[in-house]
Amino acid sequence: MNAPQLSIIVPVYNEEAGLPALFSRLYPALDMLAQKRQLQYEIIFINDGSRDRSAAMLGQQFEARPDTTRVVLFQNNFGQHMAIMAGFEYARGEYIITLDADLQNPPEEIDALVQELVAGHDYVGTIRTNRKDTLFRKSASRLMNHLREKITHITMTDQGCMLRGYRRRIIDLVGKCNESNTFIPALAYTFATNPTEITVQHEERFAGESKYSVYQLIRLNFDLVTGFSVVPLQIFSILGMLLALAAGSLFATLLIRRFIIGAEVEGVFTLFALTFFLIGVMLFGLGLLGEYIGRIYQQIRQRPRYVVQAVLEKP
Ligand code: UDP
Ligand code: MG
Repeated sequence: MNAPQLSIIVPVYNEEAGLPALFSRLYPALDMLAQKRQLQYEIIFINDGSRDRSAAMLGQQFEARPDTTRVVLFQNNFGQHMAIMAGFEYARGEYIITLDADLQNPPEEIDALVQELVAGHDYVGTIRTNRKDTLFRKSASRLMNHLREKITHITMTDQGCMLRGYRRRIIDLVGKCNESNTFIPALAYTFATNPTEITVQHEERFAGESKYSVYQLIRLNFDLVTGFSVVPLQIFSILGMLLALAAGSLFATLLIRRFIIGAEVEGVFTLFALTFFLIGVMLFGLGLLGEYIGRIYQQIRQRPRYVVQAVLEKP
């Protein structure tokens, strides 16, 4: 068999409820695409340490379609981005597409992405039209998008959509990065020379629940910010200077008032409010510093980023 030209990468974490529907839509869509474009494809499922029957179901699917299916089984849960990273390592195609397992992005859209890759783009981003997520998720992600555009050089309209296409060259470069915390679409974007964006449909999650808690979303967003910019740290040094300046002038004013008006003892509560506010700012700054230092610490330990237990593939 020739090496496939198209690799689809699907991270799977506790998706037993949705997998049958995924299989029944993904394979026909790709069969059609393969026939239309005269190419071969492979689907690489990465089981990210699921605790339900996902791994067994992926095994069954491998038995059913061994020529187009490969399954990488992680020993533990290492996170969606690490799963995609492993997928990149195993992918053989010239065109690589990442897709979520929950059918929020219709597999039928893959053809449109391949179209752009064939046309010569090395990075195909996506924008979700009428996004079907909670209002909280949508507004939080809009806010993060703005922030990211301000402090990094990455310009993406919609950072969160994981249905994306990459050329081999980009994937090889991403593979050379050994960072232990990362955000794949942004990392890949930094290597793109001819990026483009297309709009894709977005649907409700077909089955199961989102695998991201609010806490994990916050962690992910710190990855996105700290991984691509040190501007947040610089903002704190500037903020510190401004505050020192303001406090200095306040002190001077108070001193002058002391001589003109005499002793004043009002505004105790204002003082409290101000102090607590400043303590809050300081703690946030300290925490932010900790985010960077924690990442440096994780990085220097050089532990494996993920551990593969087994790979199911045709010899
Ligand atoms: N996922 C994963 N490991 C994790 C969390 C999620 O592999 O630790 C997979 C999950 O199975 C799905 C994709 O990543 O295929 C996106 O997850 P989800 O749909 O829960 O995220 P959301 O759409 O809510 O951002
Ligand atoms: Mg989803």
